[in-house]
Amino acid sequence: MSNFTLLIVDWYRLNKRNLPWRSESNPYFIWLSEIILQQTRVDQGMAYYLTFTKNYPTVLDLANAKEQDVLNDWQGLGYYSRARNLHFSAKYIQNELNGVFPTTYTEILKLKGVGKYTAAAISSFAFNEKRAVVDGNVYRFLSRVFDLDTPIDSSAGIKEFQKLADTLIPEINPGEHNQAMMEMGASVCTPKNPKCNACPVNEKCLSLAKNTINNRPVKKGKTKTTDRYFHFLIFKSEENTIIEQRIGKGIWQNMFQFPLIETLNINDKPDLTSFKNKTFESTPIKHILSHQRIYATFHHFDSLPDQAAQKRLTIKQSDIQEYPLPRIIDRYLEEQDVF
Ligand code: SF4
Repeated sequence: MSNFTLLIVDWYRLNKRNLPWRSESNPYFIWLSEIILQQTRVDQGMAYYLTFTKNYPTVLDLANAKEQDVLNDWQGLGYYSRARNLHFSAKYIQNELNGVFPTTYTEILKLKGVGKYTAAAISSFAFNEKRAVVDGNVYRFLSRVFDLDTPIDSSAGIKEFQKLADTLIPEINPGEHNQAMMEMGASVCTPKNPKCNACPVNEKCLSLAKNTINNRPVKKGKTKTTDRYFHFLIFKSEENTIIEQRIGKGIWQNMFQFPLIETLNINDKPDLTSFKNKTFESTPIKHILSHQRIYATFHHFDSLPDQAAQKRLTIKQSDIQEYPLPRIIDRYLEEQDVF
């Protein structure tokens, strides 16, 4: 084991956060935790991890669940394709792999929604396969320790960092080494104000020596974000309202929403002339997704439209939580006490 691994693993054993998936060797639970924690803070992801392991204690329970229930349990986490992929892969394991979770990196990589990073994490944590994990935390940590300025979002950078991580990972306990690398990035070598004084490799850190910490890691360019302008129509009769299911690809696939009119510009007004008894219009509410900024305006009506459009459902207002809703709608209902 190299000196580098010894330093970070010793530190990890003393300082690791006590997280429920840390002591897991069940690959199914590790898979759940990794998918839930993608793009999600640990404190936010924890409740979802506990819900999923309780509601679907085995991969077969997840395979046999209704997609709507899975999406409901996922509600609030965003990136709903991740939940759909989990469900799809659970069914694949049930039908194609006799219900047995795959045990090697190569087989795990075949699961839908599992990339190299996740396959390396599951195979090394659950099966101690020597596969180096490179996630955002590891990119940052390595770019600083070795003062690397190759952009981490370039193909050259992805190769270079993976190669370096592959040379650092030991034969013995590669899973623990991976966990230590990730934890270093998450807890010590943080994006802002890294805790260099408490860092076990500060004497080796080239960025610290060269004062380049704030310029590491280097990124080529940010993904373009588009603005979208949504107008949701909340129709209310005595106890009913109307919702519709989103179909096709894109955000919030298969989820439910109030009837939607989208406009191209912030100042465009939707054509609402065919709807009666408008009572209220909210100010636009901003909601940020990975590559989109949504500006949503909610228009309230005290009646249902004369003719229900196809694919719209008339439901009881009190039943709305039975349907998976995008976070922005769920929050608006709660904050405005709409029903
Ligand atoms: S010394 Fe500071 S910058 Fe270098 S690896 Fe440690 S925490 Fe990160």
